[in-house]
Amino acid sequence: PELTQLVLDNLREIPDFPEPGVLFRDITPLLSNGEAFANLIDGLAAHYRGHIDAVAGLESRGFILAAPLAVHLGIGMVTVRKAGKLPGPVLGVDYALEYGTARMELRPETVREGSRVLVIDDVLATGGTAAASISLLEQAGARVEAICMLLELAGLGGREKLAGRSIDSVVVFE
Ligand code: IMP
Repeated sequence: PELTQLVLDNLREIPDFPEPGVLFRDITPLLSNGEAFANLIDGLAAHYRGHIDAVAGLESRGFILAAPLAVHLGIGMVTVRKAGKLPGPVLGVDYALEYGTARMELRPETVREGSRVLVIDDVLATGGTAAASISLLEQAGARVEAICMLLELAGLGGREKLAGRSIDSVVVFE
């Protein structure tokens, strides 16, 4: 509840970005507020401490959240990246966007067999990015314990796409 208010108080909504008709949720005010950012990471760390062995950040904004959380917990961070960014060998999963396709990649050597992994990103929309990333992590031998999203845009089908998963959204927009 405190984390929910913290995120809501430090959010910006930009209509028609990056294209007409899209209401973009921007977490940069939260990141630039040092006290709020620290309180967010402290709160997440308290919630997950002892339950996970690694944090997987989804490029790009997931990295910003995953890195301090991993350091805070004294565990490793795994980067799930957009196509072509990671040197090989990589696993890749293609997925559909509203227009076109995208691809996420993972270096399987960065995942320990059987490790309990938390997936983290800023926004859950259709769930395509998270679903592809979870598939990669599981192919690499991880156990995806939970998915943490700062914002969930309900009604875009993300929760349904990730059915059966434990999804912790700090703020849900109906
Ligand atoms: P999905 O794959 O449709 O769930 O989209 C999630 C991805 O798109 C995440 O990596 C988000 O960072 C990004 N995204 C979608 N909508 C927004 C938004 O309103 N603000 C910031 N990022 C967004």
